[in-house]
Amino acid sequence: MNTQIIRNFSELDTVTKGWRVNQETIAVVPTMGALHEGHLSLVQIAKRYASRVIVTIFVNPKQFDQDSDLVSYPRSEESDIRKLAPLSVDVVYVPELEEIYPSDFATTISVSGVTDSLCGAFRKGHFDGVATIVAKLFCQTKADIAIFGEKDFQQIHVIKRMVQDLNLPTVIKNAPTIRETDGLAMSSRNAKLTSQEREVAPQLYNCLLSATKKLEDGTPVAEVIDQTKAEILEAGFKSVEYLELRTEQDLSPLTELTAPSRLLVAAWLGKARLIDNVALGPVKIPARKGPGRQPIRELA
Ligand code: AMP
Repeated sequence: MNTQIIRNFSELDTVTKGWRVNQETIAVVPTMGALHEGHLSLVQIAKRYASRVIVTIFVNPKQFDQDSDLVSYPRSEESDIRKLAPLSVDVVYVPELEEIYPSDFATTISVSGVTDSLCGAFRKGHFDGVATIVAKLFCQTKADIAIFGEKDFQQIHVIKRMVQDLNLPTVIKNAPTIRETDGLAMSSRNAKLTSQEREVAPQLYNCLLSATKKLEDGTPVAEVIDQTKAEILEAGFKSVEYLELRTEQDLSPLTELTAPSRLLVAAWLGKARLIDNVALGPVKIPARKGPGRQPIRELA
């Protein structure tokens, strides 16, 4: 099957209207390019849910809080299209800037509440940019379903909130984080790491895993957070923006491991801001019989 590379909305509109007439279902995978196995895994999932798959590649200027980050963001359209070829997607939509933001574009979608903390607190305007581009791409692609990676866990919550609030017809599906063999979450931003930093980077995930174990063993949350921040810095990271335990369901802060939750982190290593998160379940502390506590994992 031939993948169509489409650069303007009117052409995309003609294609998707044809699909609609034929009762086809459409899945979209929004990306900013510099594709890696994480992105490709979303495409595989999309193929399971819909008869037509569109991958979008658009480096969205509105979601960058720093110009330097936008300028240095990796762009590799040719190799991205090559990587997508074996997956036989129907369309790779690579819109020109004008197709998304014409000069008189005046709308911003701003989701409050869920964007106030974590990445939202450190990257002003970032989630406005994300919500605006995602809504625009949902409309342009007429997507029935869209796949997003859990690596950007807060982003999924922002998008789900927007979809619910605006009654958008697109169903959102989560996809698990794909990692390098040493545990580092794949990210286009990993390209910013020097070879020395690249060796340090997997420690972020290792620190999350050891924190998870301590939390599930019943160590108090505040203690684990403090210890783990110190470990991340000791490993060679420059700073930790946040390390927080939040509920899986709505990202409310947790001071005890009482609900299915995520431990989420953002930390700087050289010029790269890395984010990651792990899932963890509540522990039930049974009545103490002998020495030590015996936590029982309730959720698989
Ligand atoms: P980006 O191109 O970085 O904006 O990401 C596009 C989509 O790919 C988002 O839904 C991300 O959450 C997802 N994604 C990025 N990295 C990974 C990863 N390592 N595993 C799974 N999904 C990812």
